[in-house]
Parts: sequence; C-alpha cells; structure tokens
Amino acid sequence: MDYIRENVNDILKRIELSAKKSGRSLADITVVGVTKTVDVLQINELVSLGISNLGENKVQELLNKYDRVENVSWHMIGHLQTNKVKYIIDKTCLIHSVDSLKLAEEIQRRAEQKNLIKDVLIEINIANENTKYGVMPEAAEALAHEISKMKNVRLRGLMCIAPFVENSEQNRPYFIEMRNLFIDICGKIADNVYMDCLSMGMTNDFEIAIEEGSTMVRIGTGIFGARNI
Ligand SMILES: *Cc1c(COP(=O)(O)O)cnc(C)c1O
Repeated sequence: MDYIRENVNDILKRIELSAKKSGRSLADITVVGVTKTVDVLQINELVSLGISNLGENKVQELLNKYDRVENVSWHMIGHLQTNKVKYIIDKTCLIHSVDSLKLAEEIQRRAEQKNLIKDVLIEINIANENTKYGVMPEAAEALAHEISKMKNVRLRGLMCIAPFVENSEQNRPYFIEMRNLFIDICGKIADNVYMDCLSMGMTNDFEIAIEEGSTMVRIGTGIFGARNI
C-alpha cells in the first residue's frame, strides 16, 4: 500500500505550499481523510501515517468502521437524516452537514440526553445547485443565530461542497464567498459560537480552497485513488 504513503506525502506538500500563499502553515490546515467505500486495511494504513481525522458520508458505513479503526476522530460529512442523529451523536467529533433547523434541534435533543456538547458546521449550498444539500448563503445567518441559542450544540463554522469543475480556478469565487460569509457571521453572532472552522476543498480543488482561507480539507480520491462506484 505504498501508494497511500506517496499520495499523502504529495498532498501534504501541496497543502503546505497553498497554506504559505495565504500566510499560514501546514499545521493550520486539518486534513480529513475521506474513507467512504475504502476498506479497513487501507484506512489503518492511512492512520499509521498520522492522519487521524476521518470522514464518512453515510451513517451506516461510519458505524461499520467505527469499532474496527482505533485512535481516530470521525467526521460526519454527508447529508444526515434527523432519524439517524442518535446513532452518531457520541461517535463523531464534528458534524459538517447541518442544513436545517430541524436537524440542529434533533442534534440538540440527542446531545442533551447524552450530556455532551456537539460541534457542528452549517453546510452551505454555495453554488445554488439543486443536486446538493445545504442552506442558501442568505439563510445561513438565521440558522447560525438559532444554533447559538442551543445549549448542547456549538457552531464551529461553515462547510461547502463546491461544484465539480474541469478547472479548479472556477471555484475560487465560491470559496471567497464562503470566507466572506464566515467572517460576516463571526462578526454578527458572538454568544455561544466558536467559529474557527471553514471546511472546504476536496481532491480537485483543495489548493484553491486553502488559498482562500479553508482550515479543513476533505480528501478521498487524492489519497486512496478513484473509487469504483
Ligand atoms: C466524497 C466526499 C469528499 C471527498 O471527495 P474526493 O473528491 O474524493 O476527495 C469530500 N466531502 C464530501 C462531503 C464527500 O462526500
């Protein structure tokens, strides 16, 4: 599985270069290894290389792997149905995909039951694509305001999945818009939110995302190769 090591080394180098362009360093960027469709052997190889933040986009797949991979923090990065919150509430460090008040309220309810504080991001449908989840940029502040009132939910920032494009430069305006929205919400809502996370950038566009202020990139294909789905 040398390819995993080579891919990770390559990606970390590229992250470092992009971080420098925005006045930061590699240590300022969190890499979430996206392990959907990847088996536990490969995942453990990744973990042995020091990548300990892992992301799954389906609840069932996360649960299947949860007990078989040790010393990692799991991120829920895909659309989350309200009725599945209970399965992952105490198994994830961060839910990236809060896209409705109803979902945030269910996270509050389940987190309170377990007596924990749940870190979340609001997912933004930044390019207004009808194939994507997320709230429209103009609705983000209102949702952030509602979440700020929840005792057991802590808003950490925003997340987006930029469009699939041939040339990643095409996504730069969306990343800039995300950063501006992030700054805007930070300035307007002070109570009970700890906005330090801008989750944007995937295999095809993470360099541009970091140049524009991403603090967390989610990378699957770039580490494990193309998935056969
Ligand atoms: C699959 C996925 C990724 C990773 O995409 P790659 O192009 O394979 O790097 C990132 N974020 C989400 C939400 C995903 O579902």
